[in-house]
Amino acid sequence: MSETKEGLDLLAAETLRSRYLREGEEDWKDVCERVAKAVATTTEEYTEFFNLMNSKVFLPSSPTLMNAGTASGQLSACFVIPVEDSIEEIFDSVKTAALIQKTGGGTGFNFSKIRPDGSPSASGTGTASGPVALMGLFNQATEIVKQFGRRRGANMGILDISHNDIIPFIRAKRTEGILSNFNISVMIPDAFMSLADEGRMNEIWNSKTGAKVGEIFSEVVDGIWKNGEPGVLFYNRINRDNFTPSLGDIHATNPCGEEPLLPFESCNLGSINLSLFVEDGKINWDSLRETVGKAVRFLDNEIDVNVYPVPKIGEATRKTRKIGLGVMGFHDMLLKLGLPYNSTEALKLAEKLMGQINWAAVRESRKLAAEKGSFPEHENSIWKLPMRNATLTAIAPTGTISILAGCSAGIEPVFSWVYRRTRTVEKEFMLVHPLFEAHFKPKLSESDYSWLLEHVYTHGTLKDIKNSKVVSGEEKRLFRSALDISWKTHIDIQAAFQRHCHAGISKTINMPANTKKEDIEKALIYAWKQGLKGLTIYRTGSRQHVVLSLKKSQ
Ligand code: UDP
Repeated sequence: MSETKEGLDLLAAETLRSRYLREGEEDWKDVCERVAKAVATTTEEYTEFFNLMNSKVFLPSSPTLMNAGTASGQLSACFVIPVEDSIEEIFDSVKTAALIQKTGGGTGFNFSKIRPDGSPSASGTGTASGPVALMGLFNQATEIVKQFGRRRGANMGILDISHNDIIPFIRAKRTEGILSNFNISVMIPDAFMSLADEGRMNEIWNSKTGAKVGEIFSEVVDGIWKNGEPGVLFYNRINRDNFTPSLGDIHATNPCGEEPLLPFESCNLGSINLSLFVEDGKINWDSLRETVGKAVRFLDNEIDVNVYPVPKIGEATRKTRKIGLGVMGFHDMLLKLGLPYNSTEALKLAEKLMGQINWAAVRESRKLAAEKGSFPEHENSIWKLPMRNATLTAIAPTGTISILAGCSAGIEPVFSWVYRRTRTVEKEFMLVHPLFEAHFKPKLSESDYSWLLEHVYTHGTLKDIKNSKVVSGEEKRLFRSALDISWKTHIDIQAAFQRHCHAGISKTINMPANTKKEDIEKALIYAWKQGLKGLTIYRTGSRQHVVLSLKKSQ
């Protein structure tokens, strides 16, 4: 009954074939050779980089795997493009976004400089259409470009909570299928969150529109409850970690939120597969720190070999040399260590892991600065000692590279131990998590194991299983998946990683279908107080089209 091996192998093979193999390439090793050759500057580095990728200990993000050593040569996943309030500049931004998306990069925009819907146009002869209508233009451009690329372009559309059009913006995606190439987020300053926290909902927030704090806040909460959008970004928290404040404030992030960037900056991402660092039930810390060093070198080299979509992006990126090193396979690591995702030990480990990774990354960046020089804006940064890169760490979703690596995505808990995946490959498979299978299959009779799979496939949890011969209390605690974990734990884990991460974190805070709007309000305030830079909440069942799901009859 279990199709784990066949299903997962097919998924990885299909992903490799459709996304990463270039002409003349047959297997993963060929991809690693091409990428290592393009990124390495010495034969020693070539061997190191090849081994990192071939063993799947570290993988750069998709654009690097797709484009390194090819005619495109564009390696970054994240971009932020400014949008100014004139026709010329707007269409320049659309063009830049199209050029980026053609190469598989994702673009983030803050539309707050665009004058509100209905205001007089600059020429005085008409009226402006406002940020929401404009997003339709960018969305359409992505739709067209997507036919040329290997991966769907992604956009992040941001609006400041003080903008006059904030309510239509929050509602812009309420009908599923509209602005489908956009994630939308509201940028919220501390002043607004403080008022919401203090319950001062009747205070006027926007004197021009008369909108009150409570009205805007409940629009955000409603949107999240209805279908998971808008996401939320915390402006002051993001800018407390602006390492080059003299270059301006940060107003936007890339599509999945892990990279707050200045206008025209781009960033290369790469992720370390944590699950491979567990040896005999213990973490090999030395090996982890050593891998971090090599990964930093890898991502830093990319900045110099990258082919930038437009010159301005190359200039902005080279000034600060930001890179985004992150992790994947965190939940798999916990399983191998026998730690439930929602345990105090997991929280402590999250903190220690990211602390060590960030520290090892900074150490390597200092070494690189001694060898090759600090980033050009170093003197204008808050770094005192030499640094090759203004920021080093970010945790990406690893949506596709975690499939290649065969590990749990980013720092997310496993969605369900038995699940269905749609849209990635034509044939739909019931998939079983390999560590779940390895644990239960050998110890249960064939019929008990089949029963267990069917139960988890249908209900998505082990916690309601009464038969302790099939699943013990301890096993129920260890094998908790996304929906068995409270929103508070989701946020606590994100906050633990965030405390030691220069940039941001992509993570979904899962909530059950019967969640009340008050819980969403509480979660937003709690997340802000815990120091998250932003968050995405998803309530089960609130969207029709999802990639991962339980048995179809559900
Ligand atoms: N991204 C994109 N299109 C996509 C998926 C991702 O442009 O379909 C960009 C986006 O900026 C996102 C980043 O790539 O934040 C990293 O995403 P992820 O880690 O899932 O990418 P992977 O390297 O696993 O393909």
